[in-house]
Amino acid sequence: MTQHIATVGGVAVDTRHWIGGERVASPTTFTDESPIDGRVLAEIARGGQAEAQAAADKAAAAFPVWAATPRAERARLLRAVADGVEKRLDDLAIVETSDNGALLRSHRRGVMPRVAHNFRFFADWLLELAHEDFDTRGHTNRVSWNPAGPCVLITPWNAPLMLATWKIAPALAAGNTVVLKPAEWSPLTASLLADITAEAGVPAGVFNVVQGYGAEAGSALVSHPGVRRISFTGSVPTAKHIAGAAAANLVPASFELGGKSPLLVFADADLDLAVDLAVEQYDNAGQVCLAATRLLVESSISEEFVRRFTAKAATLRQGDPRDEATDIGPNIHARQVDKIDGFVRRALATGARAVIGGGPNTDLGGLYYRPTLLSGVAQDSEIVQEEVFGPVLTLQTFDTEEEAVRLANDTPFGLAATLATGDRARAERVTSRLVAGTVWVNCFFVRDLRAPFGGSRQSGVGREGGTWSFDFYCDLKNTVTAP
Ligand code: NAD
Repeated sequence: MTQHIATVGGVAVDTRHWIGGERVASPTTFTDESPIDGRVLAEIARGGQAEAQAAADKAAAAFPVWAATPRAERARLLRAVADGVEKRLDDLAIVETSDNGALLRSHRRGVMPRVAHNFRFFADWLLELAHEDFDTRGHTNRVSWNPAGPCVLITPWNAPLMLATWKIAPALAAGNTVVLKPAEWSPLTASLLADITAEAGVPAGVFNVVQGYGAEAGSALVSHPGVRRISFTGSVPTAKHIAGAAAANLVPASFELGGKSPLLVFADADLDLAVDLAVEQYDNAGQVCLAATRLLVESSISEEFVRRFTAKAATLRQGDPRDEATDIGPNIHARQVDKIDGFVRRALATGARAVIGGGPNTDLGGLYYRPTLLSGVAQDSEIVQEEVFGPVLTLQTFDTEEEAVRLANDTPFGLAATLATGDRARAERVTSRLVAGTVWVNCFFVRDLRAPFGGSRQSGVGREGGTWSFDFYCDLKNTVTAP
């Protein structure tokens, strides 16, 4: 390992920031460990005020030229980034898996191809984005989409490159420059993406990466007065800090936050499908904002549902996420495992019963939490109301559609909801009453980038996807011309 280069899964990763088209070190570093086995992967540059200032300056300096670059050229460069992602797909997949512990097979086959798609999609959408004209007594109103300026993007660790590129691609397509601050628990693929953008020919200063802790680099970036947009994906408490900083500078901010989504299983559902949907909620060791962690099952079928669920969950293989046969890998960090276990211990101490799981998988070491289902939970209990962000589901039953909707909506969140029912009319009725940014009927996790994505209540502010992304990253201008 030469200084500033870490070798992760055989791939060389630069551990410095990427600012103004150059690698920049910091006087201090922080340690990045793999959740797979706790091995130290890298010492990462620990950014703060100075690096945030430098990146904001470079992003501001690059903005006028990038904003004036013809759409076709911006789109060409974004497609070149997509090509670069595809060329380095295996590198990105193994580095991401080493860094955040999610399954290698899903990084290879699902996530990284979608990362490339994110760039292509927003390049295409940019070229389709038309101005709108309205007529007022012979005057023309022409509404145009204009870049807003430097954008700060702050992202979490559970799907690092996927979530970052949902923001980076539309922000750049719209003609903005970007400073990305990835999560400190999964900083590595952002650095590889910086290499890919440079190789693709994205001009210096258009895309920047500042590494570091949220309270240092993150906080300095979101408070910077030169920033024109802040887009954040992460937890509710952090969002409140960032909202305060955004308010101080009157900067538009978008928030994609946590969830406590329900899976409603009605007696008329295809029960095998419902069980598959329920077991799928353990994906990524439960570290999915959209996960339907509250199973709400109609009483008349609950016994059979639990029987089939338990049988299916028993087939899940927990282990090293690099193994093809593994279904559930580790959780991200010892602190996260403690937090998950704390929720489960307190629930068990107040009357819940572990139908399956209920603690860490000690055979595998500290970070692997057993897929857990808790029954006997009260609606107002912490385990039902708060986001656990681990492989922990709760089971409740209902007798009527009315009760199902009431339970489903009774948390501070409103990110998503999933319904299993064989009755289309019921699906429509229930869907219209659910508080959720996305509702899946007899399916889960199907995401079309043209559709809006986001949450209600504490699950977020604003929507990403298609035109909604451009709406956020652009300053709209209406030009009124006399006849
Ligand atoms: P987090 O809020 O702790 O951290 C997210 C990011 O914010 C990190 O990069 C962190 O360094 C940064 N940060 C922390 N404090 C900051 C500050 N004061 N100023 C600026 N930046 C700061 O969240 P996490 O634990 O990394 O992620 C898990 C959360 O993300 C869960 O709640 C999950 O539901 C949510 N999430 C939401 C979505 C969605 O699309 N709605 C997707 C994935 C994850």
